[in-house]
Amino acid sequence: MIEFNQLKYFRKGDIMNLHIGVIKGDGIGPEIVTEAMKVLDKIAELYGHTCEYEELLLGGASIDVHGIPLTDETVERAKTCDAVLMGSIGGDAKTSPWYQLEPSKRPEAGLLAIRKSLNLFANLRPAVLYEDLKGACPLKEEITEGGFDMMIMRELTGGLYFGERNTVEKDGVLTAYDSLTYNETEIRRIAKRAFDIAMKRRKKVTSVDKANVLDSSRLWRKVVAEVAADYPEVELENMLVDNCAMQLVKNPKQFDVILTENMFGDILSDEASMVTGSIGMLASASLNESKFGLYEPSGGSAPDIAGKGVANPIATILSAAMMLKFSFDLDKEADAIENAVAQVLKDGYRTGDIMSDGKTLIGTEEMGDFICERLK
Ligand code: NAD
Repeated sequence: MIEFNQLKYFRKGDIMNLHIGVIKGDGIGPEIVTEAMKVLDKIAELYGHTCEYEELLLGGASIDVHGIPLTDETVERAKTCDAVLMGSIGGDAKTSPWYQLEPSKRPEAGLLAIRKSLNLFANLRPAVLYEDLKGACPLKEEITEGGFDMMIMRELTGGLYFGERNTVEKDGVLTAYDSLTYNETEIRRIAKRAFDIAMKRRKKVTSVDKANVLDSSRLWRKVVAEVAADYPEVELENMLVDNCAMQLVKNPKQFDVILTENMFGDILSDEASMVTGSIGMLASASLNESKFGLYEPSGGSAPDIAGKGVANPIATILSAAMMLKFSFDLDKEADAIENAVAQVLKDGYRTGDIMSDGKTLIGTEEMGDFICERLK
């Protein structure tokens, strides 16, 4: 039997067989994942690797076949893969029969359950402003000149969203509480991940907390400082969350890796992604303690445009690039994808969501083809 995350470790530059679980998902999912697989196949051809895909069902697609959004079989098969690439899950809540089911049997329940089963505690959301898309950014030009490129690392399985909570009545007055708890093990494992990732980037970590008020933040700061001692090449900066929210719109270029707990990360990652412009450009990854990760676009299944061949596949293609970098240590191959995406944008090609005057409108499939043509 194959053990979970019994990854085949290779030295950099080795020829690899990439065993990738593929969840095409619902709505635009199959269209955008097909383009990402096309790009991976082209990379494999150029760099001498092989891709072995294992199709897995999740969400609405799983409900249609099995009656439930996630089966044990999907979880077990995902665990045998080196990484999983996913489209998006869900349908139109008003019209889809999936939403007639009780909440625990709806598509999104499958997504939460698979993240939990795979112990994905670190969520990575890059926020990149491409020079050629800066018109989509709501910030002033003097702030965005030259673009920006940051990575938000959010703790995903602890903190306020998982703490003890209750609503009680005391002396006839309703009172609700939620508790924010972190232990040092949880903080250390995500901090290590953030510093590892900073080593692949511009070597700066901004750890965001509310240490002037919260005990959990003071422990966070202490443990992050301990981890930083093992990474002398990486600069560590501590920032209070309220200041970070301001700095993201005032001077986003200052950030490389932002490391933060669950709720702060939830809010800051949405803020950071919105200043980049289109949802169709936003990649994401959720990682566990090994090299395994689930890679998916940040957007949803966009039922309004599903099946029309107009969805932007770039977020999924960039998620595949993250997979090459973080699960397979294939940095050169990942950079090749990122450069090809930047080149397509520079050459003036756009899907509808990022279209602007004077550019050439293309569909999902053409975008995949044009990125493949520019891979080196
Ligand atoms: P959505 O992200 O699917 O769509 C919001 C808007 O963005 C729509 O106008 C859509 O057309 C557009 N859009 C999204 N991705 C695009 C792309 N790649 N190219 C071009 N345009 C794109 O959000 P929603 O409409 O609120 O949700 C639709 C479904 O997706 C729901 O069932 C929701 O639960 C689900 N959802 C899934 C995930 C996930 O799988 N991780 C995340 C968010 C929402």
